[in-house]
Amino acid sequence: MEYKIGVIRGDGIGPEIVNEAVKVLDAVSSKFGFDLKYTDIDMGGCSIDKYGVPLTEEAVEAAKASDAVLMGSIGGDAKTSPWYKLEPSKRPEAGLLAIRKKLNLFANLRPSVLYPELKKACPLAEETADRGFDMIIVRELTGGLYFGERYTKTSKGLETAVDTLSYNEFEIRRAAIKAFEIAMKRDKKVTLVDKANVLDSSRLWRRITEKVAAGYPDVKYETMLVDNCAMQIVRDPAQFDVVLTENMFGDILSDEAAMITGSIGMLPSASLNDTKFGLYEPSGGSAPDIAGQNIANPIATILSSGMMLRYSLDQDKAADAINEAVKQVLKEGFRTGDIMSEGCSRVNTDEMGDLIADRAGK
Ligand code: NAD
Repeated sequence: MEYKIGVIRGDGIGPEIVNEAVKVLDAVSSKFGFDLKYTDIDMGGCSIDKYGVPLTEEAVEAAKASDAVLMGSIGGDAKTSPWYKLEPSKRPEAGLLAIRKKLNLFANLRPSVLYPELKKACPLAEETADRGFDMIIVRELTGGLYFGERYTKTSKGLETAVDTLSYNEFEIRRAAIKAFEIAMKRDKKVTLVDKANVLDSSRLWRRITEKVAAGYPDVKYETMLVDNCAMQIVRDPAQFDVVLTENMFGDILSDEAAMITGSIGMLPSASLNDTKFGLYEPSGGSAPDIAGQNIANPIATILSSGMMLRYSLDQDKAADAINEAVKQVLKEGFRTGDIMSEGCSRVNTDEMGDLIADRAGK
């Protein structure tokens, strides 16, 4: 079996962290007997430097021709980089927004996992951190309040701003199906988070999601109000497996869920469309302050490549091997600078990649 992988190395630490993920992918693909054919795709600042725009049509076509795309990160230092003298639609970040739109990536996945070895960084109560947690937020990414009609008007001297929150059943159904499919590969539980006691849109989310849930009898389905969920994430995050929610609630809850891990540099993410295709990237940015020094933590990108194997290529065993290798290397006490603690061995970006590739490929 051969898969086509688009690779966006991007800017800043992007090339360094992606190189390590590719190393790990090569190790597991040879162990589990499949081939990965990589195509480099330029996006962000490096594309501006070469072609004058952050995303070319050729780059979009190359991404579309891939089974999945693995990305590092894009962007530079907003104060010093010449990219930020350009108008907003020509800056590196515009490339990311454009590719998400052109590939119709409507579901954003943000896992939040507490590794026992890193639990000291967790800001939650000790007994909560001791229980650990492993949840994933599935956020609808292309609808709702951020995409609705908006305007500001002044009437009789009173200035009023209006934002519109709207969802149709098609948008809800496809996001819900993604969440249930993902739950089938995990602990088989979906929590729909909404504000159904107030919002009509939330009540539609409940009606449609309930119908989708009926098609997945093995998955436990529950609903929760968003204000309660915000509390439950800090009180007892272990209760969650897959959290499904609309765009704005997901925006806020996914940052809350990331924060409680205490180590955002460890968190992968993915954006999916209604095929198997996905764009996989670390949650962090291009970290221009440490770029080119071989000290960035490549684990979020390596875990993103594991998500790619699971959700786009259905290579679950290879994905498990990557997750286990990361746990193993942490257990053995190896750390990059950002997660370093007393008694551990400090390693560089490429050494961390070598260690994980070695454990994953065995
Ligand atoms: P950032 O995430 O790049 O950096 C914040 C801090 O975290 C920095 O101190 C950095 O050194 C550290 N850090 C980030 N990733 C790390 C890693 N893997 N290992 C060790 N330390 C790490 O956020 P920022 O400084 O706000 O943004 C820098 C650039 O990244 C900006 O141009 C921004 O637009 C861009 N950005 C891109 C993406 C993306 O490509 N999806 C996401 C967020 C930010």
